[in-house]
Amino acid sequence: MSMLLSLPPGDYLRPGSYCVPPISPYLHDVATDVASWRRQLIWRVGMKRSIAVLGTGRMGSALARALLASDHRMTVWNRTKDKAEPLALLGATVASSALEAVTSAEVIIVNVSDYKATAGILRDDAVASAVRGKLIVDLTSGTPQGARDAAEWCGRHGAGYLDGAIMATPDFIGTDAGTILVSGQGQAFRDNEAVFRALGGNVQHVGQDPGRANALDSALLALMWGALFGALNAIAVSQAEDIDLGELSRQWTATAPVVEGLVTDLIKRTDAGRFASDEETLSSISIHHSAFQHLLELMDARGIDRAVVDGYGFFFQRAIAAGQLHGDFAALSQFMGKAA
Ligand code: NAP
Repeated sequence: MSMLLSLPPGDYLRPGSYCVPPISPYLHDVATDVASWRRQLIWRVGMKRSIAVLGTGRMGSALARALLASDHRMTVWNRTKDKAEPLALLGATVASSALEAVTSAEVIIVNVSDYKATAGILRDDAVASAVRGKLIVDLTSGTPQGARDAAEWCGRHGAGYLDGAIMATPDFIGTDAGTILVSGQGQAFRDNEAVFRALGGNVQHVGQDPGRANALDSALLALMWGALFGALNAIAVSQAEDIDLGELSRQWTATAPVVEGLVTDLIKRTDAGRFASDEETLSSISIHHSAFQHLLELMDARGIDRAVVDGYGFFFQRAIAAGQLHGDFAALSQFMGKAA
């Protein structure tokens, strides 16, 4: 009880506060009751959170527009103020400083180029004091460790923290197909469902570890770049062989479901550790390796750069040297998890 009396008044009861350190079980219960009472109140009177968006570049502006469309009270701030001005026409208040924006809102959404820029904004002394009791949602792209460090910094400054990875271009924000992965404090995510719903139809909480969203982001980007660099190779081969790119595009559309099936199968088999060929194997390393030789021969004949595909060759060789030539293609995953 004496601990309760020594707390700064209102620190845990302030609307929008997600800072509930484990000081005493009693205090935790009080904070939980107040949070639950507040959730019911929001539901009954339809109150919406006041939100600040820091950073109104291409993505930040799309986020702000989606929130304005869902009637949230919005303040926006951008280092270059001109870029935030168009949002005033849609009903946003344009703040003159990050401090003014942070002070005005319960939920602070950050979307700038990288975490270094986020830190430059939030770690200013006055802003760092103003974040106490608020929820920071950083939707800036970054690394898992960067998100964990930011969560730790917010915890030390009395703020809640969620980290998000936006898996969409700005035109998808606010639409049913808008996907954002969010990780960190699950309760804070649930308490702000209306905010996240406004940003897209597929905004998911993917775990308590604040680094999880960025880790998934990097994994999915690795997959995407595999496909995009593969497409660049396909374009080079097509051009060298005088194949019309419209024809390439049509044949890719027809082949894409096969590739999607192979990727899903590869992930499933790796998860189950089923690396030896069996009756369900779709294709062995040996079959892929032999077709791969045709690609290399063609590329050499046409003088096409092999830098990307030589990387594939390296992993084929490692697997073959380890006696896995006749294994399922998924067996290659054993050679990529650790640098040689
Ligand atoms: P952008 O249009 O280039 O905007 C960058 C924003 O960051 C601007 O508001 C810029 O302010 C601000 N900024 C940069 N350095 C800053 C600093 N040191 N201090 C304060 N503000 C700073 O980029 P974007 O496309 O909106 O991307 C923003 C974030 O969203 C990135 O992390 C990106 O990876 C992520 N994202 C983007 C997409 C996409 O399709 N665009 C998709 C997924 C994720 P100024 O206007 O003053 O320069």
